[in-house]
Amino acid sequence: MKTCPRCNSNMDDNASFCSNCGFAFNKKSIMPKIVIITVVAAAVVVSIVVGRFAYNVSKANSYLQSLKECADLMMDGIDTAQDIYDDIVAALDKLPKDDLNNLYDKFKDVLNKLSEDESFKIDLDKVKDSLDEVAKIIGNTQDPPEG
Ligand SMILES: [Zn+2]
Repeated sequence: MKTCPRCNSNMDDNASFCSNCGFAFNKKSIMPKIVIITVVAAAVVVSIVVGRFAYNVSKANSYLQSLKECADLMMDGIDTAQDIYDDIVAALDKLPKDDLNNLYDKFKDVLNKLSEDESFKIDLDKVKDSLDEVAKIIGNTQDPPEG
């Protein structure tokens, strides 16, 4: 003998349904399975969402890191370019004022002299290295993450 939890009628132990109110005795054993499946499915969905989010955050961070590296290198390049410009202006200033004719030839002479100067060569190499490095980082950097 078992008692229907809905209407309190007494039913045979083998009964699947209450003959009085139609209560399904087997529901109880089915429900936990549905709950377990739902919980597992929810956990899978949550872990996929969290995983994607974490992946996107790390991708965004490495992208920002690359952009920062590029910006730093470009700033280095600008500093070096400023040094080169200062060197050229200083060398031009050393020219006698009455020598401003044939300025183009003089300018070429100045550049030729500068190109023999070791620190000027180092500056030029720095600019080239910066550009190469920036190109490399941009090449390695994937598209910006969405969102
Ligand atoms: Zn019942």
